[in-house]
Amino acid sequence: MQFVTDLFVSAQGRLFDSLVQPVLFALGLGGFVEMGFEGIEFVLLGLIELAIAYTLMRPLEAWWPAERWAQRRAVRVDVIYTVLNRLGVVPLAVFALLAPVFLGVDGWLRFHDIIPRQLEDWLPALDYHPLASFLIYLVILDFAEYWRHRLSHTFRWWWALHGIHHSQRQMSFWTDSRNHLLDDLIAGVWFASLSLLIGVPPGQFIGLLIVLRLVENLSHANTRLSFGRLGDHLVVGPRYHRWHHALDLPAEPRFACGCNFAILLPVWDLLFGTLYLAPQLPPTGIHETTTQEINARDDFWAQQKLGLVLLWRALGTRAGKQPSA
Ligand SMILES: [Zn+2]
Ligand SMILES: [Zn+2]
Repeated sequence: MQFVTDLFVSAQGRLFDSLVQPVLFALGLGGFVEMGFEGIEFVLLGLIELAIAYTLMRPLEAWWPAERWAQRRAVRVDVIYTVLNRLGVVPLAVFALLAPVFLGVDGWLRFHDIIPRQLEDWLPALDYHPLASFLIYLVILDFAEYWRHRLSHTFRWWWALHGIHHSQRQMSFWTDSRNHLLDDLIAGVWFASLSLLIGVPPGQFIGLLIVLRLVENLSHANTRLSFGRLGDHLVVGPRYHRWHHALDLPAEPRFACGCNFAILLPVWDLLFGTLYLAPQLPPTGIHETTTQEINARDDFWAQQKLGLVLLWRALGTRAGKQPSA
């Protein structure tokens, strides 16, 4: 393990010395060197995560697919989203937009002598059990992610953006990052604000992000893989999330806005009445109603534009609840 850490740190140092630092100075951005150093860590972790996902999930999709496709052209756009996301382009943009907000909040809290309490302040025993505190943070964040996801199906303005994630008819592990950039921004604010509020230590933040992302990659994979009848109810897997992306949702009224919103733990769907599992592997996608929507299915810029157009319309009419997803 120490060998891997050493390798990582030395790669980070080399990239910083040979590439990032000279470029930052050349651009007159010397004040951002520290941020640049941390940025490399983020990008390297994104690459490692992508390598793990590709090595584990691509063979699974090739050997044991849920659907066989004549051609994979539709997957390309999801690869673009993933590369932008994992190479830090999207997270960096989100960070640049959010940093001033968080600095302001942090300054206000300090000025008023308010220090967000960490889990360890409530349960001092956790100081000696970092794995236990990691798992508790994971459960709290997953609960918040369930509600963020469910609300993005409930409000028409939010669905205007989140619908892009669902318009893929050839769902694969790459589809995880297929999100409207504004939706990514909202999700970033949601996740980072809560993490700050409950005092997630920076060292655990990246780990939490990696666990959730790998589970999300796997849950979008085009594979018949099952965790067994019990297992599929304990952890979100490809069969579980496939029903969330089903072209035709189960007919019951309680699923009018969707089913299986959980990211990691199906227990939230079970508790709030949104869990649905059946042995079939349904086709994925949404029923588009306009040519503009159909044309946007495989095109990055058309999707970004469509999300904004639909958002504008939803806000212009009535930002009420989604009649059906
Ligand atoms: Zn969704
Ligand atoms: Zn999804």
